[in-house]
Amino acid sequence: MRRVSVFGSTGSIGENTLDLLARQPGRFHVVALSGGRNVARLAEQARAHRAELAVTAFPECLDELRSRLGGSGVEVAAGPEALIEAADRPADWVMSAIVGAAGLAPGLAALAQGATLALANKESLVCAGPLMLEAARRHATRILPVDSEHSAVFQALAGEDSAAVERIVITASGGAFRDWPLERLAHATLAQASSHPNWDMGQRITIDSASMFNKAMELIETREYFGVSPDQIEVVVHPESLIHALVGFRDGAMMAHVGAPDMRHAIGYALHWPERRHLPVERLDLARIGQLNFRAPDEARYPALRLARAVMARGGLMGAVFNAAKERALDGFIAGRIGFADMAATVEEVLARFEARPGLIEAAMTLDNVVQTDHLARAWTDDAMAERAG
Ligand code: NAD
Ligand code: MG
Repeated sequence: MRRVSVFGSTGSIGENTLDLLARQPGRFHVVALSGGRNVARLAEQARAHRAELAVTAFPECLDELRSRLGGSGVEVAAGPEALIEAADRPADWVMSAIVGAAGLAPGLAALAQGATLALANKESLVCAGPLMLEAARRHATRILPVDSEHSAVFQALAGEDSAAVERIVITASGGAFRDWPLERLAHATLAQASSHPNWDMGQRITIDSASMFNKAMELIETREYFGVSPDQIEVVVHPESLIHALVGFRDGAMMAHVGAPDMRHAIGYALHWPERRHLPVERLDLARIGQLNFRAPDEARYPALRLARAVMARGGLMGAVFNAAKERALDGFIAGRIGFADMAATVEEVLARFEARPGLIEAAMTLDNVVQTDHLARAWTDDAMAERAG
């Protein structure tokens, strides 16, 4: 039996991962599951999957988790250190599906014990890509992409010579506000930003799709995963979300990955890689779909794309600044402290503030420095938001 752990099991990616595991009884042994405040769901999952261990990220939730799992034989633990210890438990395959920079340390711990890391947590690549890749190399293991675009590129590259790659095109649905008049964006509400035209995802990534901070993160993710230069990566708006990415080769050929917008494809591909197994995703009827559309992203609508390009050009710890400022600005929008368009403006201010203090972002790429940079960027983002609100 393959030993697997799922971090962020109560989230959208986590639930889809458990759905796939449950369809193959007897093939997988669940080592650890982790969640946040949704302790009831975490306990239910741990019982159903006979997990060895269930961890909540929040110590104040431990008592409830313990009482809900009483008599089940499932061990319980809580807090960031417990997450790292859980990731350190021997497993063959670990899903990293915590949302935010909190996923970085458990992901590194899973790599350090030699597990194959199925990586949905894009934040860890954005804030510490070189650290993640180095950990995978050092421990002779692998990171498998679980983002639809990056899984698509990974599949299009199977059996190809990476030196023959000319460009990578990732698609974007355009999010909730794709067709809104620009002047309305500043007044977009939380409810409006939290609904996605094609994908059913967690709230944070859904809002990031509307602002295209998600695609901005994915530009950086693409650079880290596939080692191409920023000018080889393009974004195209594709409202149907059926082509997830394309790889262009030096002979002019483009390999496109086409599939239903269902994350169980990317998760399942990473789960069974290098094999392909049956997955419960919709089979497309192309004649019924009729047509696919593409257009260039409008930079005025999606300033996050320009910011991501600046971050890639700058390098160093700027990715950690970008991710932290984005997460905090998103918290601010969700809490009603700033408006939708203020998110990008705030992140841009924080990047400029770090740019003016070059020593900070040129520090070595170590976990400590990433964490310190993350904390400082969050504090400066709070300052920038307070100034905006005041
Ligand atoms: P979600 O909000 O649905 O779930 C997040 C999970 O993380 C939950 O289990 C939650 O309890 C846990 N969590 C929240 N805060 C935590 C903290 N501080 N410490 C530890 N755990 C915490 O999110 P999601 O949509 O499933 O996304 C998970 C990750 O996958 C994100 O990095 C996202 O960008 C990425 N991703 C998601 C999708 C998608 O379709 N949902 C697609 C591609 C990539
Ligand atoms: Mg994606």
